[in-house]
Amino acid sequence: MNRILIGAQWGDEGKGKIIDLLARKSDIIVRYQGGNNAGHTVRFSDKTYILHLIPSGILHSGKVCVIGNGVVLDPEAFFEEVDVLESKGINVDGRLFVSEQAHLIMPYHKIMDCLREENLKKSEMIGTTKRGIGPCYADKMARVGLRAGDLKNLGYFKDRLESVLEEKNAVLRKIYGHPGISFKEVYKHCLKYRKRLLGFLTDTPTYLYNASRKGKSILFEGAQGTLLDVDHGTYPYVTSSNASVGGAIAGSGVSPTVIDRVIGVVKAYTTRVGEGPFPTQFPASLMKQIQTKGEEFGATTGRPRRCGWFDAVIARYSVRINGLDEMAMMKLDVLSGLPEIKIAVAYKLGGKEFSDFPPSSCDFSRCQPVYETMKGWNEDLTGVRRWKQLPPNARKYLKRLESLMETPISVVSIGSKRSQTIFL
Ligand code: GDP
Repeated sequence: MNRILIGAQWGDEGKGKIIDLLARKSDIIVRYQGGNNAGHTVRFSDKTYILHLIPSGILHSGKVCVIGNGVVLDPEAFFEEVDVLESKGINVDGRLFVSEQAHLIMPYHKIMDCLREENLKKSEMIGTTKRGIGPCYADKMARVGLRAGDLKNLGYFKDRLESVLEEKNAVLRKIYGHPGISFKEVYKHCLKYRKRLLGFLTDTPTYLYNASRKGKSILFEGAQGTLLDVDHGTYPYVTSSNASVGGAIAGSGVSPTVIDRVIGVVKAYTTRVGEGPFPTQFPASLMKQIQTKGEEFGATTGRPRRCGWFDAVIARYSVRINGLDEMAMMKLDVLSGLPEIKIAVAYKLGGKEFSDFPPSSCDFSRCQPVYETMKGWNEDLTGVRRWKQLPPNARKYLKRLESLMETPISVVSIGSKRSQTIFL
């Protein structure tokens, strides 16, 4: 069984927990897009791990993890993570592979990321994590990137770096008034990680092809969420990769015909980090309440997440873009104690009401949500283990969401522990 797991909102849906549950049933876990701007929080054997780059499947002994060609790799961040895992007794040898085609995040990408964001007007800021991810993807598309496999041949790597750096330094100096970065410095940085990184490099598309032919079960774990997808998200307030289903195919080099199921993860409410329109955002006092109860602070940046009501328009859009077969509904426990709960079922713009996500970002930023209001519940859900134990109003809420998303909910999560999960 090969599954793709996708965030169906703006990321931070709680994918880490579901990935962890599915990893147990899989042989190979693949990251296929993004970089160390993502962050899954996983509780494993009573320890909490925050993994930015390495698939959380690595916590399970015997599972193989792959960082696919669609990921951008910061060697420094990668080895920091490997070292933390190894210091906690998790050995990655022989079961962690990095695609030779993955692009390298270079020191100048991080500098560019900071300078670019600093030079934008407040209203134009994207809210990047400043880890060089966007500039690295931009170079990939402009065909001036350096790939992990390029490190195999130092002569080739050196020549390319020299010519790329010439242009980078011109931009740094002329546009940003930055002193630039010397070839020696960048080259030394790359050499520091080269030998160790070569040990992880693999022809991952071929590896995955052979594994799937042998009947191995592969889990493709998405980072961020569909509404952050560079094509299908709320552009320009998006990430620089395809966080929707297509990214799994292009970013790992497998064929769509090997995929059996696509699973969407949503939170029982909505959150969004960084800038950008957010029609169902809570008023300030409710926002604070849910932020605190739901611990809505970024795993990567610590930034508080903006919170709002469940938006069925974007969830249904995610179902369509990704072809979601089923949904995991996370953090239902956080909504306990609210007298009433709203769901955005449509948007209003210029006197018109519609229930499809508008492709124009300008339109989206002006949409007003049309709410349906349901009764809340007071009971604490964290001890609930079965559907029937859920308060009737919580069940009604879930049933309504299911009908609005036109997709079955197969998992309800009511706490961060593995035991706090209801399978339907
Ligand atoms: P991801 O990026 O989609 O993996 O999401 P994060 O890992 O950033 O956020 C998930 C956070 O929510 C983690 O701290 C989880 O332990 C926690 N979490 C996951 N499921 C639930 C749930 O059902 N209820 C509560 N209260 N917390 C949850």
